Amino acid sequence: MPDLFRHPNLSAQIPRSRNAVRDDKVFLRWLLLDKREAVSKGQPFLMLHGDKKRGSRSIPLLVQVAILPVCAKSKVVFKDYTPNQVMMLPPSLEELIMENHLVRVVNQVIDRINIDPLLKKFKGGGTSSYHPRMLLKVLVYGYLNNTYSSRRMESALKENIHFMWLAGMNKPDHNTINRFRSERLKDVLKTVFGQVVELLVEAGHLSLKEVFTDGTKIEAQANRYTFVWGNAIKTNKSKMEEQLKELWAYAERVAVEELKDEAPESFAPVSATQVKQVIEKIDKALEGKAVSKKVKQKLQYAKNNWPQNMKRYKHHEKLLGKRNSYSKTDIDATFMRMKEDHMRNGQLKPAYNVQLSSHNQYIVNYSLHQKPTDTTTLKTHIDSFKKLYKQYPQVVVADAGYGSEENYQMLVNRKIEGYIKHNQFDRSLHRKHVDTFGSDNLIYDEERDMMICPSGKPMKPIGETHRTTANGFKQKMIKYQATKCKGCPLLQQCHQQKGNRVVAINHRLRKLKQQADERLKSEQGIAYRKRRPADVEPIFGNIKHNKNFKRFMLKGLDKVEIETGLLALAHNLAKWAA
Ligand code: SF4
Repeated sequence: MPDLFRHPNLSAQIPRSRNAVRDDKVFLRWLLLDKREAVSKGQPFLMLHGDKKRGSRSIPLLVQVAILPVCAKSKVVFKDYTPNQVMMLPPSLEELIMENHLVRVVNQVIDRINIDPLLKKFKGGGTSSYHPRMLLKVLVYGYLNNTYSSRRMESALKENIHFMWLAGMNKPDHNTINRFRSERLKDVLKTVFGQVVELLVEAGHLSLKEVFTDGTKIEAQANRYTFVWGNAIKTNKSKMEEQLKELWAYAERVAVEELKDEAPESFAPVSATQVKQVIEKIDKALEGKAVSKKVKQKLQYAKNNWPQNMKRYKHHEKLLGKRNSYSKTDIDATFMRMKEDHMRNGQLKPAYNVQLSSHNQYIVNYSLHQKPTDTTTLKTHIDSFKKLYKQYPQVVVADAGYGSEENYQMLVNRKIEGYIKHNQFDRSLHRKHVDTFGSDNLIYDEERDMMICPSGKPMKPIGETHRTTANGFKQKMIKYQATKCKGCPLLQQCHQQKGNRVVAINHRLRKLKQQADERLKSEQGIAYRKRRPADVEPIFGNIKHNKNFKRFMLKGLDKVEIETGLLALAHNLAKWAA
């Protein structure tokens, strides 16, 4: 037998012969008894492998004998656990909150905020209300902890010591929290946010003089498949117009006498009443005439549906405003193309366009927009900055999505230094060859008010065109025409127009672009261009990925703006505490 069997820790001496172990059932019984005893005493024991039953006899097959475990087992001591013990002096929640915990920062900062505008929202009378400062702290801390649902906040106020401490053991239910968030904070939260930003400015964390602006789209709390499209309404109305014309033409053929003095002014459907009148005229004229079955059916359908359809279209158009779409389950949400495209089919989703301005990765301003393009949002966004801080920023840095004549001019009018690329800026930096034939690259002779064509010949002004943008901004373009393109050796490369080449030049935009180019290529401009993506874009990353906020919880522009404000506050406080 191996030495293993003579281990000093063993509780008994084991016979040395292997055969004896295999044959002696008594010994095996003793061995098992010995194991139980060893276990009860906490001593090492022998383990027998391969015990096999054959018929009624148990034949042990000793394959391996090992010691498990080799060392002696120590006595186990457990810490005291008395869950129902009554404490003479229970610990206060204050002692349980870490000194530098985030919840303390939220508490201290919101305590310093003037909440008079919020207090004015309470009319008084009736039962007592939960204190708005407490509810504001709970909401901000909830958004800071990725707890966006009012029901989850209600649970946290009963389970989470940080929430309990912050609320002073108050336990408002989810309805109270939600009512406070969507009704009381309306028109007030932005001033609270502004005060927190001013505290950050005082503490030297950021400056309001230079801001970096960018936008992102966040999905609305709305059904993705219940939508209304402006274009579909236009198409349906034009189809209705066509069919009305056809019906009228048919009626004129069949009932010449009845309709000879009855021609309607227009077939373009403007209102339900107008459509109804035209249908009634046709119906009256065809009364008692031999009318084809198809026309009868169409007329009946028109009578039953078109006036109602017109009413519906009018209602939709009112809700659409200047938008092209809206969601039926959140009428303020517009369908937009999102970066998060999990289906990879470019599906449009109901969303809001959130515009943020930042400095040192702190949010200094936010605004909500219903249009997907960033270009149209800058004016409103900058004006909301002025409304909040009673001043404009001195410098605004934004990407090429904001580069438009309207925005450049708006910044000039407000005496703001804009560092905004236009859509050709990056191409002009990297291109190796300048397209000398492009209308943007033609030389302008300001003295003679002439453009110089690629062959060096003058192009004379022949008129001007005007355009108004979606925001109501007026643009003016002067048309210049070359004098003699026929026979020019550069004609093939220059243009494909019939006759002499005509170009339309927007001089104001040309100058504004030149100024933007100079600024962006300066040392300061290069520094701003480098800093912009590292300043504002990480905020979107933090909100969407770290805070996992990819969809608003509330519906409607006002409520969604409150949520954006809470997110912005939470972001700033978390960064302040970091
Ligand atoms: S084709 Fe006409 S516009 Fe072009 S370079 Fe020749 S003359 Fe000038």
